[in-house]
Amino acid sequence: MSPFTSYMDLAMDEARAAAKRGEVPVGAVLVDAEGRVVARDGNRTRELSDPTAHAEVQVLRAGCAAAGSERLPGFDLYVTLEPCPMCAAAIANARIARVYYGAADPKSGGVAQGPRIFSHAQCHHVPEVYDGIGAPESEALLKEFFAGRRA
Ligand SMILES: [Zn+2]
Repeated sequence: MSPFTSYMDLAMDEARAAAKRGEVPVGAVLVDAEGRVVARDGNRTRELSDPTAHAEVQVLRAGCAAAGSERLPGFDLYVTLEPCPMCAAAIANARIARVYYGAADPKSGGVAQGPRIFSHAQCHHVPEVYDGIGAPESEALLKEFFAGRRA
């Protein structure tokens, strides 16, 4: 299995765990320059009563705390859904090297659509971005979650 697939599988596990907690099912994994998983988490906005507790922010906080630095150069971030503008800005501020994401988010995404944070002139660090990794699985989980909430 390629590393892309296996890290995204871990992120999907976190997304499924988030769904079980009643959170929007998004999961993220932070990998250091040596390929070690340094943080993995899912959305916890409801649990923590914190609108910023998105999966990406959770792993950035954990990774920065472990590194004792607000910057994580050479680190890669895997997330099951296109980052929102807030998370994209946090990813840029943390100097993440590469972002791999799954499903596109036409409603709240901030990378390929909406504000397109990384294309903005004010964005001081632009990570490499790879989209569509494991997208069908992530989309199916999100659809299932929102269908269940409407029922
Ligand atoms: Zn976000």
